[in-house]
Formats: sequence, C-alpha cells, structure tokens
Amino acid sequence: MTRSAPSPDTEGSPSGGASTDAPAAAPPIVIRGARVHNLKDVSVEIPKNRIVVFTGVSGSGKSSLVFGTVAQEAQRQLNDTYPAFVRGFLPKYEKPEADHVDNLSAAIVVDQKPVGGNSRSTVGTATDIHPQLRVLFSRMGEPSAGMSSAYSFNTPAGACPECQGLGRKVELDPDTFFDLSRSLNDGGVRFRPFEGGIAGSMWTAVLDGDKPLGEFTEEEWHTLLHGGRDKTLKVPVETGSGTYNMTYEGIADRFERLYLKRDISGMSKRSREAVQAVIREGRCPACDGARLAPAALASRIDGRNIANWTAMELDDLIGVLEGIDHPQGTPIARSAAAALRRLSDIGLGYLSLDRETTTLSGGEAQRLKMVRYLGSSLVGMTYVFDEPSTGLHPHDVGRLNRLLKALRDRGNTVLVVEHDRDVIAIADHVIDMGPLAGANGGQVVYAGPPEGLRAGDTLTGRCLRRTTGLKEAVREPRGWLRVDNARRHNLKDVSVAVPTGVLTVFTGVAGSGKSTLVTDVFAAAHPDAVLIGQQAITASSRSTPASFLGIMDPLRKSFADANRVDPGMFSFNSKGACSACGGRGEITAEMSFMDPVTMVCEACEGRRYDTSVLAYRLRGRTIAEVMAMTAEEAAGFLTEPRIAAQLRQLIEVGLGYLTLGQELSSLSGGERRRLKLATHLTKRGGLYIIDEPTNGLHMADVDTLLALLDRLVDARNTVVVIEHDLDVVKHADWVIDLGPHGGKDGGRIMFEGTPHDLVKDEHSLTARHLRADLA
Ligand code: ADP
Ligand code: ADP
Ligand code: ZN
Ligand code: ZN
Repeated sequence: MTRSAPSPDTEGSPSGGASTDAPAAAPPIVIRGARVHNLKDVSVEIPKNRIVVFTGVSGSGKSSLVFGTVAQEAQRQLNDTYPAFVRGFLPKYEKPEADHVDNLSAAIVVDQKPVGGNSRSTVGTATDIHPQLRVLFSRMGEPSAGMSSAYSFNTPAGACPECQGLGRKVELDPDTFFDLSRSLNDGGVRFRPFEGGIAGSMWTAVLDGDKPLGEFTEEEWHTLLHGGRDKTLKVPVETGSGTYNMTYEGIADRFERLYLKRDISGMSKRSREAVQAVIREGRCPACDGARLAPAALASRIDGRNIANWTAMELDDLIGVLEGIDHPQGTPIARSAAAALRRLSDIGLGYLSLDRETTTLSGGEAQRLKMVRYLGSSLVGMTYVFDEPSTGLHPHDVGRLNRLLKALRDRGNTVLVVEHDRDVIAIADHVIDMGPLAGANGGQVVYAGPPEGLRAGDTLTGRCLRRTTGLKEAVREPRGWLRVDNARRHNLKDVSVAVPTGVLTVFTGVAGSGKSTLVTDVFAAAHPDAVLIGQQAITASSRSTPASFLGIMDPLRKSFADANRVDPGMFSFNSKGACSACGGRGEITAEMSFMDPVTMVCEACEGRRYDTSVLAYRLRGRTIAEVMAMTAEEAAGFLTEPRIAAQLRQLIEVGLGYLTLGQELSSLSGGERRRLKLATHLTKRGGLYIIDEPTNGLHMADVDTLLALLDRLVDARNTVVVIEHDLDVVKHADWVIDLGPHGGKDGGRIMFEGTPHDLVKDEHSLTARHLRADLA
C-alpha cells in the first residue's frame, strides 16, 4: 500500500492567506491510514483554526474523508468522554477505518438536510428569534396578552383555537365541489353523498333548482353555502313518502359538520375518496393564516401585531426592531435585530420569520443552520460544511465567505467541501482529492495554499487555470412557450417567453424568484414537463441505484439461471434477506428520549443478504460482491444488454463511481438529480426543467454535464435550467435573468437574450459577474 504523503507545507506552521489574529497554531488534526469507502490509506494533516477547503471531482473521496472519517471520529471520541451510563443513551458511532485520527476537537456538521421537519417549524422558531419577539410583545404589546407563551402558536394559550396554530384549515373546494354550468337538479353538486336524497331536496326547497349555479346571485350563494341569515329556517321537504320539517343547513356547513369535523379515516374508501376530491387546504378564516389566538393578534406595538412582524421581510423587520426605544424592550430588540442581521448578511434577508422551514431549499436550510452557530459563543470547534455555495449566485458568495472567515476568526476550525472558485480562493489550506473518482480516486493529490493548487498539475488545478469563453454559435429557437402575468410569491406580473429546442438558463441572486417562476409557475403550466428539482427522488433505505434503474430484475434472473434457483433468493427485500436485520443491513434501536440509534448489522456485516445466499455465484461473484461494485466496475462485468445499457447511462451522467447497492438516501441532492436524469437520456421531444444541476459537481464534472445537456437538446428536447455556475451560463443558448435583488426587491426580469448580449447588459448583476469572469 502506498501512503499518500502529506505535502510538506501542512507540517507545523499554517500556510499563507490566514487573517491572522487567529490563535497561535494549534497542533493539526492528524489522520493516518484512512480507508473509509474508496480512501487509499490516506495520511494527511489538517491545520486547526483555519479554513480548509476540500476539492476534487465527485466521488473522489472528499465526503469519505471529511464526513466519514474526521466528523465521524470526532463524534465518537466526544461520546467516549461520557460515563458509560450516559453513553448507553447516545448514538453509537462506528470507529472509522483508519489507523489514527488525532487532535480532533468537537465537530458540528452543517449539511443541506432540511431544518427540522413539520409545519410548526418556521424560520422564526428554528432560529430562536421568535421567542425573543414574544418576550418583547409580552412586555411592550398593548394590550398585553399575558406572558410570552400567549404569543406562541405552538402552545395552547397562544394558538388560534380554530386551526390549533397551523394557520391552515381544510375546507370545501368550490372549484371541484360545484359545476357552475349546471343547476342543483342537474348535477351542479359534484359531491356524491349530497346528490339527491333529503339533503338534496332541502336545498332545492329554498333555492331555484333549475337555475345554473353560475347564475346565482351573491345572496343565493350565501343561502346555499351557509343557510339563511338566521340558519333556523324550517323547510318542508317533499320526498316520496311525505313532508318533513327540518332545520335548513347550508351545504358548506353540513359538509363541515359531517365530513371535515369527523375523522374520515373510519369511513368507507369510497366516501373518503369522494371527500378528498372536493377539499383543499385553505387559510384559516379565524386567524387569517396568522396561527394565533385573538388576544395575541389584538396586542400591538406601534400599530403592528406579532403576526405582522413575522410576515415582514427580515431586512425590514431589522429596521423596526432598531427603532424600538423602551426601557424593558430595547435590549431584547437589539439582540433580535443582531440575530436577524446575521441572516441578512448571509443573503437570507428576503425571507420572513413565518416562512415554514419545510419550504426552504437545501442551500437556504444550510445557511440558516450556519447562522445559528455564528450566534453561539462556542470556540475551538470544528465546523464541517457541505458545499455551502449551493443555491448562491456569484454575487452572494462574498457574503458566505465573510461568514466562514468570521467563524474561523473566533477560533474555530472550518472544513468545507466546495467546488466554487471564490470559496477556494479564501481557503488558508486546500486538500485536493483524486486523481479521479471511485476506485481511481481516494488519494490526497495536493495539500497546501490555494496558490499552489492553481499552479499545480492536479485536475482541480488545471480547471482553476482555464478560462472558458462564450459559446461561439447559439442554437436558433424552434418556437416559444409563454408565461403571462405571473404574480406568485415575489413575482411582479412577470411575462416571459421561453424558447423551445434550445438550452435556456435562468439566473439571478438567491430569492430573486427563479424557483417560483420556473418550478412553480412555468412547470405547472406545462404538465408534461419532466421536473428534476430539489426533491428529484424520494428515497427509502431499500432503494439503490440498481433498483432505481430497474437493473435488479435482470440481475436476479442472471443469478437464478446460473444457479438454477428462485430469483427471489437474490432479493434483500424478500427471500434473500438477512434474518437478523430483515435486509436493511443495519439495526435501529428506538430510544425513548433520543434520536434512534443505528448500527451495522452484525449477522450480515451490512451486506443485507442471508449468508446462505452468498453460496451462489455468477461468474465467480456473489450477489453481495456485485452490489458492492461501482457502476464503472459493474459495466465490465455485467454484459447482459438490459443491464449494460442502464449502467452506461449512469456513467454518462457522471455517477459511474456509485456502487450498485449504495442506499439512495445517502446520495446528495445533486447526485439524485443526475440519477433521475439518467433515466431520461433516451427520450426525445420533451421539456426538461432542472434545478441547479451542477450542485455537487467539480469543474471537470461540469463539462460532462454540459455535454449531456447538449445531447438532450440535440435529441429535439427543450432544456430549461436554473443555474449559478458561470460556465453553464456561458454555454446557454438563451439566458433569462431575474432580479434585481431577493424577495420584494426582486421578481422582475432583468434580461432576456443570448449570452453575447448579456455580457453587454448594464443592469443585471449576472452580467457584471460574467464580465469579470471573462476578463
Ligand atoms: P465525494 O465526496 O468526493 O463526491 P465520496 O466520499 O462521497 O466522494 O465517495 C467516494 C467513493 O466512496 C465513491 O466511489 C462512492 O461511491 C463511495 N461511497 C460513498 N458513500 C458510500 C456509502 N455509503 N457506501 C458505499 N460506498 C460509498
Ligand atoms: P430563487 O429561486 O431565485 O432563490 P425563490 O423563487 O425561491 O427564489 O423565492 C422568491 C421569493 O418567493 C422569496 O421572497 C421567497 O422568500 C418567496 N418564496 C419562495 N417559496 C416560498 C414559499 N413556499 N412560501 C412563501 N414564500 C416563498
Ligand atoms: Zn387559525
Ligand atoms: Zn443483517
């Protein structure tokens, strides 16, 4: 085994570039003989109290080193410091495969996973700014609603009693419930249980049963939905058998009483489906979506209630808080304003505190978590970031860099997996992994200051040196797809034409409205579009690249034919499953007050298959061995045509380094998007909408991606992407730029045209960065 020697300048003194009021050089983190995943006995030193950026093509081993080795061992060592009794309740971290990992400090991993996950979690609650506002209202609000829990929608005292603090209520959807072209007697009510019968004749007894509903007056609608003014009208109802007196009840009220206020899960499948078809989730009418009880909403500071505050853009709320002058209020207002300013500094000033965290993009979620730590006074920590530039326009990357430097300057070690040139440029130290991906990677090919990386001969170094120009000739559009008067979220009555048969790139700073325009409005107007967005694939722990691409059936059949047994033997979802873990490869223990603890299954050592299955081989390999092959390795071994074709597509989208059996849930967002793309490579004449396809891609991988997008366009598809990567912008046939800024200061079209014309544009921020890049 060769050891990849650390570069001499990692020894001892930290390298150049550091802003150097950081504490005196602490001994570096020392890794010896790391062999996690594809790592080839890696030995390397990571300087402390510095910004260390890890680069390298996708699959080269960055995550295996940073997350799988450093962060993993830091967590494990931290847990080991607790007494055995406490340790019993903590998650178990496996010792990473390495000879030594020394001088670690406690690590905090800031990744792109969503921030806490239900509709009660908002930007305000996740950042702890909402509790501060509540205290402020309890002290200064007029009239005060009580102490601070009276302003919390997550407590019984503060929550709106109608919607229990959700701000939303399920309600009858008039668009599907009624057919306006028909009358009551002629099927105007499309909810089967209300057609005909006693209820049906009740409504026709007071309203004209033959008048089309579309011609009803406002008063007639009110009578139909909510009864007469007094609601206690007695109506004689004609039925076959006689006349009844009954209390008239509006159709919406009756629907609410019989279906919405009851637990419909106990009803027949038919009834449930009928209800599902005619309801929608609407704003709660009692609190108008504000989630709070009337007393909290009545309490105001300078004319605004707490819901008005949380609905404001953060940048505006800062101004309100800074204007507060009140003996008991000012200190809290200052502290909340400072926390908001940190969010604004990282480019999230366009969000509002009432924004649900589940609606944030991966990049926004990561920046939100990042800010949480900036406010903390912990020092001497190791922070680990996973491509924090995700979702950021070049214009926003400067803010990110300031944040990373601030963390370092407070005495922390900042480890960043990143491909962005501007982030690499502020590194004190770069560790470049390679030379390539998977089995051809797993070594440290450079360690030292960024200048040395740029001058050196690694793939990353060569990519950093090159400057790509604009594409020479752009394609001619074959036609145009229009969006007219879009006003969703921050869009300002946007009308735009998207060319067909070409590659269109949407650009703009974070929050300018790209996702809203492209994935909400444009995609919704073209229902047959293939949308490859943030949630490209929802992956269970049972799904793998092989199952996703449909390779498993033919593979099991090949194994079955070779051994004359049942193909089900070779499935860890059925007969072949390890009996100890049921085919999961790991065992999860539920803990009553902690996150569940997951350990590798000892019986199958994580292979998922029952040991008896491993007696069967295909051309000398067991099924577990085949599942552990990367797509590239498997392509040389599995030559069955159906399988080979799928493997080729996986390699073409740049995922040849994935193993066939890797859990999809372990894939990054960018990898999932490319995996979904792999299943579409042979289609023609379609419309593809892809959100940030370069996410997670090294500059060298971007070339592969561009070739792929070109191939899609050349097969007569229309390709629309949201992108910040300037190499993709330069390669576009057509660019649509949104701006000028984020949130309410965005939502306008700043530029539409070819990249050549964009370079000359005076207004767009993207144009400014493009000119700088080309210079
Ligand atoms: P990078 O972070 O540079 O993209 P990774 O460290 O994620 O690279 O991957 C390096 C290699 O390890 C790849 O070949 C990848 O397929 C493999 N690998 C990563 N995660 C897993 C896993 N959970 N199980 C098996 N192999 C993995
Ligand atoms: P971009 O994609 O350019 O980063 P977005 O389309 O995500 O921008 O956001 C544009 C504006 O719409 C921002 O002010 C953002 O806060 C708002 N917005 C986006 N998604 C939602 C949502 N689900 N609910 C409320 N506001 C949203
Ligand atoms: Zn409500
Ligand atoms: Zn097992």
